[in-house]
Amino acid sequence: MARLVDAKCRRCRREGVKLFLKGERCYSAKCPIDKKGAVPPGEHGAKRRRRPSDYGLQLREKQKVKRLYGVLERQFRRYFNQARKVKAMTGEVLLQLLETRLDNVTYRLGLAASRSISRQLVSHGFIQVNGKKVNIPSYQARPGDVISLVPAGLNLSRVKESLADKDRKVSSWLQRKAVIGKILRLPKREEIEADIDENLIVEYYSR
Ligand code: SF4
Repeated sequence: MARLVDAKCRRCRREGVKLFLKGERCYSAKCPIDKKGAVPPGEHGAKRRRRPSDYGLQLREKQKVKRLYGVLERQFRRYFNQARKVKAMTGEVLLQLLETRLDNVTYRLGLAASRSISRQLVSHGFIQVNGKKVNIPSYQARPGDVISLVPAGLNLSRVKESLADKDRKVSSWLQRKAVIGKILRLPKREEIEADIDENLIVEYYSR
């Protein structure tokens, strides 16, 4: 199965923003963006400072969101096509589809420090939906679904660390009691990352 393999920090530097792909390490002094600013990767990265075209801006926004959620192009395009069929703001529906992926919900519930750790928890069979084990990170969770850890998951140090992090907040469209979470409703736009211009993504695919 295809997956993203390039270095996580490189992806942030390419997009010029912190995408928080490494969990708690992103808050430490080791983050290269905090240390040196958002310098594009590569030998000549610092010299490449051209003003981007409209197309360039749209492309970068699409790439940024893909990388944020750890989704590959074909799957991302599928989400967009799915969102376009809904009679609502396409960009907002696209973000809702990404937010309700099981790996993202597990991350938003605070059971993992990053989406990539969350993805591992799901694919290694540590997550249940409505009492049944689901090992597909892209599983589309729905309002009312109950997400929980299998008992063996409670012993994982990564889960313990994430649960112990008092700064982590559970998203307001979710609810968590101990290690059992519930999706109360779909997220509203203002409850999703503010630093995304979904209209640029819609423009990119509407060219
Ligand atoms: Fe991105 Fe985290 Fe690396 Fe910083 S430490 S560049 S936020 S992955």
